[in-house]
Amino acid sequence: MYNAKAYSAAGATSPLASAKIARRDPTEHDVQIDILFCGICHSDLHQARDEWHDGFPTVYPCVPGHEIVGRVTRVGSAVAKFKPGDLAAVGCLVDSDRTCPNCQAGLEQFCPHATFTYNSPDKHLGGVTYGGYSDSIVVDEAFVLRVPSNLDLAGTAPLLCAGITTYSPLRHWGVTKGKKAGVVGIGGLGHMAVKLAHALGAHVVVFTTSPGKKDDALRLGADEVVISRNADEMRRHAGSFDFILDAVAAEHDINAYIQLLRRDGNITLVGAPAKPLPVAVFGLIFARRSFSGSLIGGIAETQEMLDFCGAHNITADVEVIPIQKVNEAYERLLCSDVKYRFSIDMASLKSE
Ligand code: NAP
Ligand code: ZN
Repeated sequence: MYNAKAYSAAGATSPLASAKIARRDPTEHDVQIDILFCGICHSDLHQARDEWHDGFPTVYPCVPGHEIVGRVTRVGSAVAKFKPGDLAAVGCLVDSDRTCPNCQAGLEQFCPHATFTYNSPDKHLGGVTYGGYSDSIVVDEAFVLRVPSNLDLAGTAPLLCAGITTYSPLRHWGVTKGKKAGVVGIGGLGHMAVKLAHALGAHVVVFTTSPGKKDDALRLGADEVVISRNADEMRRHAGSFDFILDAVAAEHDINAYIQLLRRDGNITLVGAPAKPLPVAVFGLIFARRSFSGSLIGGIAETQEMLDFCGAHNITADVEVIPIQKVNEAYERLLCSDVKYRFSIDMASLKSE
C-alpha cells in the first residue's frame, strides 16, 4: 500500500478538503496511473452530498471523480496493454464479476457486482473505492482505456463519463444521418451529446433553459435551438423527433418532451434527479412512444467512443480549474454555470 493525495468529503454537508488515502500496490494485472486531469461530473456532486441516498447511499469519506486521464507509472507483471509512460484513462467502472450475462455481453455497467470507481465496495483494501480527485489510482488493466494521441488531455477526461453516457444511447437508438435527435440540457453530458449526435450525422435540436447558451449550442453542432420555457417554440416540434436524450440534473417536466416524439420515437433519460418524475401514460400509448434510461457504457464501447472521438477530433469544452476550486465549481454547477465541463488540473494537488 502507498499513500496518495486526494480531495474528499467527510459528510453530506462538508466541503471537499485535502486528505491522504491508501492505494494498493499494483498486483500482477494492475496499472498504476499518475492522474493528470479529472472531470467534474454532476454525479460527483449528487454523491458527495448524498443526494442519491435512497438508491445508492454515499459512504464517507468520499473521494469523487470518474473522468480520469493520466500517465502510467507502474504495471503488474501480467499487464500486456500498457507500459510506464503510456497515456491511460479510467471512467466510472474499475471492475465487475466478468462472468454474468451482462459482462459477457460487454455491458459491465449492468453487472450486479460492478465496482464503480468511487463509493463502491473495494475488493482489495476493504472499505469503498476512491475516485479521481487524487494524484494517482491503481486499476485492473481490463478496465483501463487507451487515449487517442491527437486529443487535448484536459478535454479528453470528460469523455470517460459524459462522452460514453451520451454516445451509448445515441448508438443504441440508431441516431444517424436522416434522424432528428433532440438533446435536453446543455451541461457536461448535453454538450457532448450535441457534438456526438452531430458527428453521427443526425439533425440535432437543442432544448435549453438558458437563452445565453444558444450561440454555443449552434457552434457545438446543433442545427436548431429551442428555449424550452417557450411553449410556442416547443409546440412547433410536436410529433417530429425520432429520439430525444434528456440530460437534465434536476426535476423537470418530461411530458412536454414525450409530446415531441413521432410514432415509435424514444426519449432516454441519462440525467439522474433524485426524485421520481411523473410520466403521463397517454403521451406514450397513443403513438407507441417509449421512455427509457441508460447508464454510462461498457468497456469495449467506451474504447469505441474514445476512438470515434480521436477520429473526429472531439473533446469536451472545458474550464480547467485547480483542485482548490472544486467546492466553488460545485456551486456553479447548481446554477448551470459551466461551459461545459470543469476539468481539474491535478498538478494543483502537489501543493497540498
Ligand atoms: P450539468 O453539467 O450540471 O448539466 C445539467 C444541465 O441540465 C444544465 O446545464 C442545464 O442545462 C440543465 N438544467 C439544470 N437544472 C435544470 C432545471 N431545473 N430544469 C431544466 N433544466 C435544468 O450536469 P451533467 O454532469 O451533465 O449531468 C447531468 C445529469 O446526468 C446528472 O443528474 C448526473 O448525475 C447524470 N449522469 C448520469 C449518468 C448515467 O450514466 N445515466 C452519467 C453521468 C451523469 P440548460 O442550461 O441547457 O437548461
Ligand atoms: Zn459521471
